[in-house]
Amino acid sequence: MIRFLKDKSWFSKITAWFLVFSLLGCASGGFVKAPEDPELNAEAAKAYAELKSKSKISTHPKWNAMLKRVTNRIAKASGEDFQWEYVLIENPDVNAWCMPGGKIAVYTGIMPVLKTEGALAAVLGHEVAHATRRHGKQQYARSMNTNLLGLIVGGIIALGGQALCKTNECKLLTGIGGAAAGFAATFFTLKFSREDETDADYCGQQYMAKAGYDPSESISLWQRMSESHQGQALPEILSTHPSDESRQERLRATLAETKKIYSSSKKKHGLGERIR
Ligand SMILES: [Zn+2]
Repeated sequence: MIRFLKDKSWFSKITAWFLVFSLLGCASGGFVKAPEDPELNAEAAKAYAELKSKSKISTHPKWNAMLKRVTNRIAKASGEDFQWEYVLIENPDVNAWCMPGGKIAVYTGIMPVLKTEGALAAVLGHEVAHATRRHGKQQYARSMNTNLLGLIVGGIIALGGQALCKTNECKLLTGIGGAAAGFAATFFTLKFSREDETDADYCGQQYMAKAGYDPSESISLWQRMSESHQGQALPEILSTHPSDESRQERLRATLAETKKIYSSSKKKHGLGERIR
C-alpha cells in the first residue's frame, strides 16, 4: 500500500485512502461482530472457487499425489470437520495458504524450497492451524463490512482493492469486484498477530507430528525458507511469516513435546518423500 501511494495516480490514491478510512472507520466505530463459521466459510469458499477458476492448476502427478496425502493426514490430525479442499497452483511464488473452512492452496514455486514431504506437512500444519484456531476473525469481520460498502460504492471497491493488494490473487479477486472481493482483499493482505503466529507454530507442529511426520523438519523448513531468497525478493510467505530467531526458538522449545506425539503416532513417515 505504501509503495502504491508513491507511484500511482491521484485517483488511485484517493480510492486507496477512501478504503483505508473505511476500514479504519469500521475498526474504530465500536465493536465489530466477528462472523460465525458458516458465514465466513461460505465467503472463503466463494473466493476459493473464483480463484481456482482463474488459476492455472498444476497437473504434476507426483506433487499432486503428495499434496493429497499430506492434506488428508493433516486434516485428520487437526480433528476439524471442515469441507477440506486442496489445489496445486502453477505459480512461481513461494507461497501456500489455507482459507477459513479448510480451503488449501500450494504454489508450485514453494515445492523446490520445501525439499521434503515433511516440510510440506509443516507448512500445511501451520497454515491449517490459522484456519482451525479461527485466527484473524476481527479482520474478517471488517472485511464483511467492507464488502457491504463495496456493494454501495460499486466499482470503487474493485479499484481500491487493486490499490490495496500486493498479491496477484488479491488483484484478481478484487478486480472481479464479485461477492468474494471483501473477503479476498482481507485474506490476501492479512497479517496475523504475533500471538496467532506462535499459536499456529505450536499447533502446526502438533498436527504434523500426529500425522506421522518428524516435527523437527518444521525447524529446518523455516531455515531453508529464509535462506532461499538470498539476493532476491522476499518470498510471499515470508512477508507474512518472518522466519526470525524467535520463530526458530519457539519451534525448538516445543520439539520435545511434539516428538512424544510423533513417537506415539500409528504410522511414521519421517521426512516422507524428497521433492524433486
Ligand atoms: Zn502464519
